Amino acid sequence: MRLPILTTFLAANLLISCQSKSQTGTSTGKSQDNLLLAVSWYQNSAEMTALYYQGFNIARQRLNEAVDKNEAGKSLAVVVDIDETMLDNSPFETTLIKGGNFQKGWYEWTKKASARALPGAVDFANYAKSRKVEIFYITNRDSSERKSTLQNLENVGFPYTTDDHLLTRNDMSYSTGNTSSKAGRRAKVAEKHEIILLLGDNLNDFSEIFEDRHVNNGKEAVEKNRESFGKKFIILPNPMYGAWEKPLYDYKEKLTEDKKTELLKSKLRTD
Ligand SMILES: [Mg+2]
Repeated sequence: MRLPILTTFLAANLLISCQSKSQTGTSTGKSQDNLLLAVSWYQNSAEMTALYYQGFNIARQRLNEAVDKNEAGKSLAVVVDIDETMLDNSPFETTLIKGGNFQKGWYEWTKKASARALPGAVDFANYAKSRKVEIFYITNRDSSERKSTLQNLENVGFPYTTDDHLLTRNDMSYSTGNTSSKAGRRAKVAEKHEIILLLGDNLNDFSEIFEDRHVNNGKEAVEKNRESFGKKFIILPNPMYGAWEKPLYDYKEKLTEDKKTELLKSKLRTD
């Protein structure tokens, strides 16, 4: 599932970590009003739709360049995240705004296998296949969600919906110990393929160099790698949750909604 950075100390508490994302303190069933504007934008704005098309249009262009350059005939791959990259889980976020329980609700949601595809995602993935580029889905959903996840992807028309193209969080054989880091699973794909592109809504979907957000929310790593965005890294918009929230909440778990609001306000700039 969609998880925040899993730091070493959190790794020790896997049971909690696997159920949590940055929306900490969500198990009380209290309405998460902080989410209202973000989810409204994600579900209703035409800008959101345009941004996804923009991302997948650039991805297609980069894919074409890579395929045309591949004179050696290497096996090429695109690595994609699932949640808020290929599938739209915003209806689950709606349930949180309405007071739903995060931990129970997430598994209920993925079990339904009813998430819609994001704009442009299915066309891009099928285009990749038509050009003989394999898609690998690297997700922090867990192994209990494998079956329904593959079913959901297949239901909406994605290609490569087979076990060997889905790498979930519990694929420990590829892990370096930090189960939410995708680095080990990317390395696994890279053993037999050249990864030409990575798509995600979270910087951690691209490289481990973005995982540490303790200083300036991790922006230095983005500055250092600015040339890679729109080239090898295609980032898609997700204002609803993400690893970016963690530093805003001072890495604290189980905060009340009031405390979260207070912390968010305390970090706003006025100049
Ligand atoms: Mg995601």
